[in-house]
Amino acid sequence: ISSAQDISAGQVDDFYVVGKELGRGAFSVVKEGTRKTNNEKVALKYIEKKFVKKKHIEQLRREIDIMKKVSHKNVLALKEIFESDSHLTLVMELVTGGELFYKIVERGSFTEKDARNVVRQVCEGVEYLHSQGIAHRDLKPENLLCSGDGEDMVIKIADFGLSKIFGGGEALETSCGTPDYVAPEVLTGGSYDNAVDMWSIGVITYILLCGFPPFYASSQNLLFEKILTADYDFPEPEWTHVSENAKNFIKKLIVKDPDQRLTAKKCLEDAWITGEEINQSDLH
Ligand code: ADP
Ligand code: MG
Repeated sequence: ISSAQDISAGQVDDFYVVGKELGRGAFSVVKEGTRKTNNEKVALKYIEKKFVKKKHIEQLRREIDIMKKVSHKNVLALKEIFESDSHLTLVMELVTGGELFYKIVERGSFTEKDARNVVRQVCEGVEYLHSQGIAHRDLKPENLLCSGDGEDMVIKIADFGLSKIFGGGEALETSCGTPDYVAPEVLTGGSYDNAVDMWSIGVITYILLCGFPPFYASSQNLLFEKILTADYDFPEPEWTHVSENAKNFIKKLIVKDPDQRLTAKKCLEDAWITGEEINQSDLH
C-alpha cells in the first residue's frame, strides 16, 4: 500500500513479541507488543486491508506519511508500519492509563480543575494537528488515551488522520459511529474542516463537567434534529455550581455555525483554560 520508504521490511512478528489485546475500534484490533532487541513496549494496531477501498489507497499513503512526521506530547506517536497480505500494522507509542471514556464512567464527572487539565491538553494536541494541516474528525473520549492520573494525567490523542478514510460519513452510515460528538455540518454532509474538531471538544468538555452528553433524545431522528439546531442547555442541579467561564467556553464551541467556533489556538487563550479563578468544588 505504501511506498517503499514508509514501510518497514519484514513482518511485525520478526521484530515484536505480540501480547494481549488492548482495545478495538471499528476497523482494527490493538495489541501490546515488545520489541525483541530492547524490550521496548509498544502498541500494535492491526488494520484489515479489506477495509481499505482501492480509491483510498493513495490517500492512506499520504496520511501515513503525515502521521509519521507528527510529533507532539499530546498526540500519539506512530513509530513504524508493517504490511502483510491481509493487514497493515501500525506500531505506536504505548499508553497504559486507558481511555478517557472509562475514566468518565468510573468517576461520573470531573472536577473543573481536572476537566480543564484534560481539555487544555486536548486543545494543545489539536492546535498542533491543525497547524500541520490535519483535522482529526473523530474526537471523542474513546480516542483520548490517558497516561497517569489526576494532576499528572497526560492525554494522548489517538486515531487521527485515518478517520478520513475509515470513519467520518461512512462510519455514520454503517452506524458504528455515534453522532454524539459530531458537528451539524458533518451530519448534513456539507464540506467541513478543523471546526468539526472544535465542536467535538465542546461536547467532550460538557460531558467531563456533568457526566452526561449535551444532546440526547429518544430516537436518532430527534437526536439529529437537536444537533442540527445546536439545541442544548445546562440543566440543574449538575450545572448549578459550574463556573460561568466553563459554560462560556462550551458556548463558544457548541455553535451551529462552524465559522463562529473558537479555534484551538483561541481556546488556549480562553479565560476558562488559562484562568486560575475557577470553582474548585468537587462535582462527584
Ligand atoms: P480505531 O481507529 O479502529 O477506532 P483506535 O486507534 O481508536 O482504533 O484504537 C482502538 C482502541 O485500542 C482504543 O480505543 C484504545 O482502547 C486502544 N488503543 C489504541 N491505541 C493504543 C495505544 N497506543 N496504547 C494503548 N491502547 C491503545
Ligand atoms: Mg478509535
